[in-house]
Amino acid sequence: MIRRLCVIGVGLIGGSLALALRRAGYCGQIVGAGRHAETLERARDLGVIDGYDLDFAQAVGGADMVVLAVPMRAMATVLASIHDHLAPETILTDVGSAKGAVIEAAGAVFGDLPSAFVPGHPVAGTENSGVEAAFPELFQGRRVILTPTPASSPVAIAAVRKMWMAAGATVEEMDAVSHDRILAATSHLPHVVAFALVHALSQMEAESEVLRYAAGGFRDFTRIASSDPVMWRDICLTNAPAILDALDQFQAGLDELIQAISAGDGARIETMFREAKHTRDAFRY
Ligand code: NAP
Repeated sequence: MIRRLCVIGVGLIGGSLALALRRAGYCGQIVGAGRHAETLERARDLGVIDGYDLDFAQAVGGADMVVLAVPMRAMATVLASIHDHLAPETILTDVGSAKGAVIEAAGAVFGDLPSAFVPGHPVAGTENSGVEAAFPELFQGRRVILTPTPASSPVAIAAVRKMWMAAGATVEEMDAVSHDRILAATSHLPHVVAFALVHALSQMEAESEVLRYAAGGFRDFTRIASSDPVMWRDICLTNAPAILDALDQFQAGLDELIQAISAGDGARIETMFREAKHTRDAFRY
């Protein structure tokens, strides 16, 4: 049980975690922190947090667990503003979508990584942002990947693991490099491709005419292009090498398909589509 939880960044992920832990009876008091009083007042009105502080240093005072749930490129600034104010026993974790960059930011701020720091990433989300989009079931049956550093203590890892389990998630551990490579392929690449596809369509001459005829396939494939541009800009910038590797592989596949279509090579096209269908049909969410 967490006596006092501090969530910095009470949006979709931070807000959903707070709601899930409250519902599970796993938390005493929940304090929010962020840039804007309006966001935090809304969070309080919605029953997501009990109170808030715009001063991050004060917000973490007395907390036994601090969760950073801000966009990737805000992590370093937030870490810098709290690092002198964290009690040694306060456990610190984050929900950032790329782990190497958060660990690097923590290293730059703390020098030696603290034993109470356990980076994490819930592999769950929606295309919506902000506290209004938060809901307590978001993590139910979903995976959370922890990427402990060599300094992370077993006690801190266990506490973060238990928190996510109380929120309904199953928890796995992985090293940060593997996490960033795998998530670049399975999450970051599909988002980048969806954004690129919709952007390309929006640049076409008769865009309104083109989109008038868009139907289920367009809707299903492009839902994630409605995701928050700032969040995805930050993910691209903070996991660039792994995303570029994934894009290279995707581009090779696209080139192969272009060649097959240009050559009228129906057998090659069908084989590629069959292999893709087989993989997709076997996928269980
Ligand atoms: P979100 O709904 O936009 O929430 C972000 C929160 O951070 C908001 O409360 C925002 O409030 C606050 N914030 C924004 N910039 C800030 C800054 N510079 N300093 C302090 N607070 C700031 O975003 P989210 O979807 O919850 O994503 C949060 C984190 O979770 C990101 O690191 C993302 O990579 C990760 N994540 C997202 C998903 C997903 O599918 N959405 C899944 C897994 C992990 P104000 O704007 O009022 O400041």
